[in-house]
Amino acid sequence: MQTCRQPLDELRHWGRVHLVLLAGWCVGAAVACGMGAPPMKVGERCSSGDLVVEMELGSATRCSDALARSDQFRAVYGARFGAQDLAGIPVRYRVTEFLNIPGYEGWNIIGHTYDDAIDLANGHFESLPHELNHVRTGPSHDGWCKDYEPWSEAVLGIDQRSYLGCALAREETKSGRASR
Ligand SMILES: [Zn+2]
Repeated sequence: MQTCRQPLDELRHWGRVHLVLLAGWCVGAAVACGMGAPPMKVGERCSSGDLVVEMELGSATRCSDALARSDQFRAVYGARFGAQDLAGIPVRYRVTEFLNIPGYEGWNIIGHTYDDAIDLANGHFESLPHELNHVRTGPSHDGWCKDYEPWSEAVLGIDQRSYLGCALAREETKSGRASR
């Protein structure tokens, strides 16, 4: 844990910067469960072990940079929840600001886990841990308020209470009502 101090400062920064976008994070996971990823024109592909990064054609980010950032976030996640096998699940960075998932037009979705790929909107490296947690637990967010959310806040600086539906329980506790 101690060795992660420097990267974590950077991760926290990213968490704050992108906090506002997280409200719509990976909505549609339940519906899209079992879906294969849509086709994507790959401009650049790079890898390190079982971590394969694909940059959509037209991306301004170099694959090697995206790989380094992805590896960093994956390591931090893995230190708490264990390494997830990504063989056959490339991490794909799309050129668009938000992901285009059929049925969810208008939602600001920045990360989504398919059966055969993890898609992240342009530059959203900090969303990788959330998607890795889907690789670990499946499409549902059930139980995430107990372990993933507190970790996300403490380590990444990303508050997902509202998005994951944890806010109500916290409010009840605060106002002195019996918690569930
Ligand atoms: Zn999710």
